[in-house]
Amino acid sequence: MYNQITGHTRLCCLLGSPVAHSISPMMHNEAFRLLGLDYVYLCFDTGHADLQTMIQTLREMNVLGFNLTMPDKERVLPYLDDLTSAAAMTGAVNTVKNENGRLIGHNTDGIGYIQSLKDAGYDITGGEMTLLGAGGAASSIAVQAALDQVPALHIVNRRGRSWENANRLAALINRQTGCRADVTDLADTKAVQEVIQKSSLLTNATSIGMAPHAGASPIADPSCFHKDLFVSDIIYNPRQTKLLADAQQAGCRTANGLYMLLYQGAAAFSIWTGQDMPIGDIRDRFFS
Ligand code: NDP
Repeated sequence: MYNQITGHTRLCCLLGSPVAHSISPMMHNEAFRLLGLDYVYLCFDTGHADLQTMIQTLREMNVLGFNLTMPDKERVLPYLDDLTSAAAMTGAVNTVKNENGRLIGHNTDGIGYIQSLKDAGYDITGGEMTLLGAGGAASSIAVQAALDQVPALHIVNRRGRSWENANRLAALINRQTGCRADVTDLADTKAVQEVIQKSSLLTNATSIGMAPHAGASPIADPSCFHKDLFVSDIIYNPRQTKLLADAQQAGCRTANGLYMLLYQGAAAFSIWTGQDMPIGDIRDRFFS
């Protein structure tokens, strides 16, 4: 079952803290094995490490590439040589490719999200989108949706920690893409209902619906849900949040966040190897 390590084996890895729970080593090592690629994927906890030294060491070791998770997605930016436009606009990197000694930062969270929608039969260009949240995951999704030509994006957040980021994102998207973006306060129930009513996609990228908020929904009154609304929750634990249960009851099509996780990994795999991850095998093995 394990890959054969040789004198040529190149390293991919995950940096962040904590990392021990990650599914990434399983999915990437199995995909390397299935395609006969001489690479190996490991996890390194950066909790007590100096990130700059770690990145410099990975560069010297000529690794194939690496992933970053919390809290390193933003902290890594000063140590990279270049960024894709999605990573630059988001201000966060989850995948780095070593291109002949140059470290290029990508953000595949948004790509993975849009691919998971396609998989569920939803076309992002088909109508307006309401996005709940303005934290790390929401930023990646907002930027990729705008780059992939969602016509209008309504960002909804409470006036808390990420309120400023919500406004920064909307301004950036309005300036740099053809998408019209605006921001609504989650506490303004009437305005939130109005943006949902004119949307064909509602995405929850807040943490409401998972522990310690499991059983709660960011939309307390689901009466604005209409049958042409696709409701997506990027939470995958639990698989069905209260938001998704309410949406199903209203006759909406729904999807949880499990395949976003799969496809953000698949996008990183393609960036590193130039090959498609054997999605069917990986999905059946780790995501069912
Ligand atoms: P962040 O902490 O960066 O953002 C959390 C967001 O939720 C912020 O907008 C925050 O608002 C909002 N929020 C949190 N608690 C409340 C509350 N009680 N009421 C209203 N708003 C609230 O987290 P991430 O963006 O990294 O993750 C968000 C969710 O997405 C998590 O559940 C995570 O598990 C999931 N996720 C799924 C992925 C996948 O592959 N499927 C990938 C990444 C994340 P404020 O800033 O004001 O607190």
